This record gives sequence, C-alpha cells and structure tokens, in this order.
Amino acid sequence: MFKKLINRLKRNKGQAYPEPALMNSYTRLPVSFVRGEGALLWDANGKQYVDALGGIAVTFLGHCHPTISQTISLQANTLLHTSNLFHIPAQAKLGETFCRISGMDKVFFSNSGAEANEAAIKISRLFAREKGIDAPVIVSMKRSFHGRTMATLSATGNTAIQKNFEPLVSDFIYVDYNDLSALEAVQENKNIVAVMLEPIQGEGGILVPDSGYLAGVRKLCDDNNWLMIIDEIQTGIARTGQWFAHQSEGISPDILTSAKALGNGIPIGACAAKGAVANLISPGTHGTTFGGNPFACQVALSVIDVIETQGYVDKAAELGATLKKQLQQNLSTLENVVDIRGQGLMLGIELDKAYPNLAHTFLDHGLVINITGEGKVIRLLPAVVTTEQQLKKITETVCTVIESLSA
Ligand SMILES: *Cc1c(COP(=O)(O)O)cnc(C)c1O
Repeated sequence: MFKKLINRLKRNKGQAYPEPALMNSYTRLPVSFVRGEGALLWDANGKQYVDALGGIAVTFLGHCHPTISQTISLQANTLLHTSNLFHIPAQAKLGETFCRISGMDKVFFSNSGAEANEAAIKISRLFAREKGIDAPVIVSMKRSFHGRTMATLSATGNTAIQKNFEPLVSDFIYVDYNDLSALEAVQENKNIVAVMLEPIQGEGGILVPDSGYLAGVRKLCDDNNWLMIIDEIQTGIARTGQWFAHQSEGISPDILTSAKALGNGIPIGACAAKGAVANLISPGTHGTTFGGNPFACQVALSVIDVIETQGYVDKAAELGATLKKQLQQNLSTLENVVDIRGQGLMLGIELDKAYPNLAHTFLDHGLVINITGEGKVIRLLPAVVTTEQQLKKITETVCTVIESLSA
C-alpha cells in the first residue's frame, strides 16, 4: 500500500520531498508519515514515532480510531454532501449533542477554527447593531491566537502574525492576559461589545491563567453588557479533562468556538451561542457551502460518542495528571527547565531560551512534539489513547533531549 510512496522517496534521494508547486506557507520538518495507529506514527522508512502532538490537538482519539474509521467509511458510502439549502439531520443531531456537552443553545457549523471565530466576530457585530453601536470594538488578549483569516488574524494579539497584512480588520484592542485590571482599565470605552479569549493560551505557550480569572472576566462582561467569547478550538472536546476548559471555573460564555479535535482529523468547526445571542444569525447573514455536511457531522457525532462511552473526559484528566507528574519528577531539577504547566493532555515545558532545531532533534529520538511560545515551550498534546508505556517514552525522550541541551 505504501510501496509507491516509499519508492518515490527513494528515487528522490537527497531531495526526498520535492514540492515546487506548493506555496511556501510552512517550514516543514524533514519527515513524512505514511501510517498512524493510536498514538503511533510511521514514516516511509518504517521508523516508528510516538505522537505527542496529535496533528496540533486534532487527533485526540489517536490515529485511525477503529470506531471513527468505521463511521467514516460507512458515511462515505452513504452520503457526503448536499449543501445547507436542505435539512441535514446529522447536523441537527450534532447541534443538540454539542449544546448538551457545552451548555450552549444553538450552533453554526464551519470547516475550521478560524471560520468558527469569524462567525463569532460577525455575531458580535450583529449584537453591536442591536445595541446601537456603529463602530464596535472587541477586546482581545496579548499573545492570543485566533486564526489566519483577515478578521481572526486581526483578533490575534501577535504582531508577527499581522505584519504586512495591514490594514487590519478594525476594531480590536489587546490587553494583558490573566490580568483583570487590564480589562477594567478599558471599561470606559463605550464601543466595546465583546471580550474574546482562550481559556488556556495554546500558541502563546500553554499559558494557564490563575483560577478565578475566567470568572472575573465573566463578571466584567456581565457588568458592562459585553459578550464573552471563549475560543476553545485547541482546549475543547475533553482535551483538558473537561468537555471545555472553562467549565472548571463554573462559568459559561455567550459564544463558544470549537474545532480541532471535534472531527479527529475530518475538518469541522463550531460557533455556539447562548440566549438571545444565539438568534442573531438569520438567513442571508452568514453561510458556508461545506460547513456542517452529513459526512463531517456524522464523524463529529461519532467522536463525541466515543469520548462519552469510553469515559475519555475523565481519562484525559487522569492521563494528563500522570504525565505532568512524571515530567515534574524527571525534569524539575534540570537547570534549563523554567516551568512545567498545563491541564489534562495539554502540557507545556518552558525552557530558559529558544534552542534551534529542537523539534527535529525530538524526531531523531522518535517523538513528535512541537515548539511554541516564541520557541521556548515544548508543547505536548498527546491522544487520550496513549498507553502508560508510551507516556513513559514521552517523558524519557523529553528528559534525554533536554539533558543533551545543557551538555
Ligand atoms: C488552531 C486555533 C485556531 C485556528 O483554527 P484553524 O482550524 O487553524 O483555522 C483558532 N484559535 C485557537 C485557540 C487555535 O488553537
């Protein structure tokens, strides 16, 4: 099955990945995986890797989960796409299921995280019209990440992502994350309609706010009649040991966005809303050709069902706690480790500085990770099906590689 690919790679010796027809949007690592199963990946040479990245928080159930693969093949042989011009029972059912696990009232399904956030931003603008605000402002957080489309990169509190794409979509203002006084300080701005934030900043470097922070933001939103938009695209769908990370604070946003793990690799995003805000979208105001098609929705239903029936919400909490403890026991004495943090299966190891080619070094050791937080944070996003033995391999490899840095 993989012979063709392997032969092609062999033919292109020394230049294993010719891709002259691809736009240069990524600096790619020199490996190409050909197969995956659970928390394992194999490259074209048959080398095995433990995957502690999961396609950037996507394959929470691991690669080729048998139930999901079965749903995929069944639905592929039944019906893929009809468009939103017609009723889609799987979409309606997924909407109800998503609302049950999130506590939201209504959902709009998209194909990606950025599109889910686009919907959230558009809903905020409709909310502004209801309030009689013509130049609405959304407060976002420094070091946040909300996507790469024009509105979502404008919402992203990182000038590196915005550079050369000006003029940005107005109006976003950025305040310090995990700092309620920074949010209080903008209260006089009567054009503010919403506050948008991640419950744990992922791309920012696995930045976990103090307990009480999200509840504090919720209160400020209530006091000022601002919408609270929580971006759970990376943290959601059981990743942190809750269906959604904000649930551990006992609060609920007005708008919640999700994507990544929702389809375990099949692209799907969701923008959910609560109360009157859930009714602001009306025919003609928003739409998508692909979003919420029978295929993606059936797969997402299957993903949620597997998580529920297997008790994977609690499992993510337990497994994450085990991994964190192992990492703390083995790494906290190393002088180039500054911090080990995170929640559930979303962990970060902050190093004293950025080390070049670190992700590549990990690949050489058979471990897939990624580096975020300005090159200083090793990000671990393993699947919930990762075995105890594989967890050990993650810890041992991280330990070996970090030790080699100071040598
Ligand atoms: C990945 C991510 C996005 C963007 O999702 P895409 O599917 O890549 O568009 C938005 N917000 C957060 C918090 C993310 O982690």
